[in-house]
Amino acid sequence: MKASNTEPETGKNIDKSSDKPSTDTAPFTDFIRSIIAEDVKNNKNNGRVATRFPPEPNGYLHIGHSKSICLNFGIASEYEGGTCNLRFDDTNPCKEEAEYVESIQADVRWLGFEWGDRLFYASDYFEKLFEYAVQLIKDGNAYVDSLTADEIRQYRGTLTEPGRESPYRNRSVKENLTLFERMRAGEFENGTHVLRAKIDMASPNLNMRDPTLYRIRKVAHHRTGSRWCVYPMYDFAHCLSDSIEGITHSICTLEFENNRPLYDWILDHLNVENHPQQIEFARLNLSYTIMSKRKLLELVEEGYVNGWDDPRMPTLSGLRRRGYTPEAIKNFCEHIGVAKTNSVVDIALLEHYLREDLNKHAPRVMAVLRPLRVVIDNYPENKVEELEAVNNPEDHRMGTRKIPFSRVLYIEQEDFREPPPKKYFRLAPGREVRLKHAYYIKCVDVVKDKKTGEVVELHCTYDPETKGGWSADGRKVKGTLHWVSVPHALKAEVRLYEHLFLKAIPEDETEGVDFKKNLNPDSLVTLTSCMVEPGLVKARPGDRYQFLRHGYFCVDHDRSSNGEPVFNRTVSLRDTWAKIEKAQKNQ
Ligand code: ATP
Ligand code: MG
Repeated sequence: MKASNTEPETGKNIDKSSDKPSTDTAPFTDFIRSIIAEDVKNNKNNGRVATRFPPEPNGYLHIGHSKSICLNFGIASEYEGGTCNLRFDDTNPCKEEAEYVESIQADVRWLGFEWGDRLFYASDYFEKLFEYAVQLIKDGNAYVDSLTADEIRQYRGTLTEPGRESPYRNRSVKENLTLFERMRAGEFENGTHVLRAKIDMASPNLNMRDPTLYRIRKVAHHRTGSRWCVYPMYDFAHCLSDSIEGITHSICTLEFENNRPLYDWILDHLNVENHPQQIEFARLNLSYTIMSKRKLLELVEEGYVNGWDDPRMPTLSGLRRRGYTPEAIKNFCEHIGVAKTNSVVDIALLEHYLREDLNKHAPRVMAVLRPLRVVIDNYPENKVEELEAVNNPEDHRMGTRKIPFSRVLYIEQEDFREPPPKKYFRLAPGREVRLKHAYYIKCVDVVKDKKTGEVVELHCTYDPETKGGWSADGRKVKGTLHWVSVPHALKAEVRLYEHLFLKAIPEDETEGVDFKKNLNPDSLVTLTSCMVEPGLVKARPGDRYQFLRHGYFCVDHDRSSNGEPVFNRTVSLRDTWAKIEKAQKNQ
């Protein structure tokens, strides 16, 4: 079994072992795959494997869902004839919208999974589910209760005390049937009656204390319109939808473990052809990230982020806009594996898989985010050279490109220091550095703003014998800087993102403190005067690049207010200088 990164613990620790991804190449398996392999071996379900991914369309999918998607679609693809359905569990008309149905399909497809003609909606089964409920009533296994919601709660008891039976529990089958039909016909108001399973008010499992199966909701549904005013509860609809679709293995997250007896009870008390096996696994939690759709919706509705696809959101649409690749997410999901105990995975691990994938595929380009002008005094005034640059040293098939070099260049402001601190190998007065793909230059003069003292321009000389970035005399320069030619530069907006939350466990709220108090005020920094290589004029939304020494960036679908291209920082490169500087500051 593949070692997963989870330890039995409270779910509050961050799993540090995730920092060092294992490189083992053992065939990927886990306890769920083992159960299924055993079932297939024993010809259970005639050797069929049928799974499903069952989102409730009440929000956008997030990175946590991708664990479930990879698991369900992945397992199905591992068996000849295996199937995985996409099913919308759309039984709650109050929170569901067609927008979510569409975004969910787009996101699953983006991850690279296809359901073919196996797209289903629990709402397609409303009629059938109603018939099943009628059958339970006829068999004396369900009754219409007329207690209020509050009373039902009071009667339910607690973990230590048994519940009490409702005074309506022993209504006759006939009376129950009539009332249930009248509920459907819209004769009663919301909350006046519910249909409950007749199980055991003394059960140690609260889910088995006569759970509600149907309630009245006079609300239009995104697919069935106003045809219905009674809606099935999740527990009733879910197991029966699985059964109707012939699902063999109903894989869900751990919080449904206590619902399994009810899942089985319902199917055992109805004459169904298929009784799927529910198997629970630990949901994915990531540090610096929230996964609850309710809380994500709160961030969207209250304007803390710019919509569900804000690049800081952990939604798949947000990650996509930020520049994440489906491969990175799938590799990550495969690595974390599937376990039965909750834990929190370090977001650094997700970023590791992202860098690993982008490193292979993203072309390198030069972009100056905070420009400082450099004049090369001994370079001819109107000369322009086209220098050759490799697009990706990791993959020579990605070829080369030409970049223009001229007398006036931009370099990064932070690549010049006066005086240079210890271990700072970049440009300083009298210091020689290499310009990537170009020449060695030496700083000979510094122009400052008379009032503020701010450095506004550098004067340098170049050594024509160092074309391509090396010298015949073998003299060493320690720093290599990226640059862009001033007359050729393309102006762009760059958005730098940090974690959305300051706290590793943002939901770890001390009493009375809202999770939004842990939002990072600097999670977005917008730079509007960036200068990038002219070749990027052909960059299209969604294209990904490595900006040398900065990180990976992805072209946004929107342009800046000035009509310039916008680049979202997907993830930074590991910055050794920042670490040294930080360590020095802390001394
Ligand atoms: P939320 O609590 O964010 O609303 P949910 O579990 O209600 O999430 P659903 O749309 O019902 O969201 O989930 C669809 C499927 O995805 C379910 O099978 C659920 O178990 C699974 N899932 C949801 N969140 C995670 C997660 N963080 N890790 C793994 N699987 C998840
Ligand atoms: Mg849910």
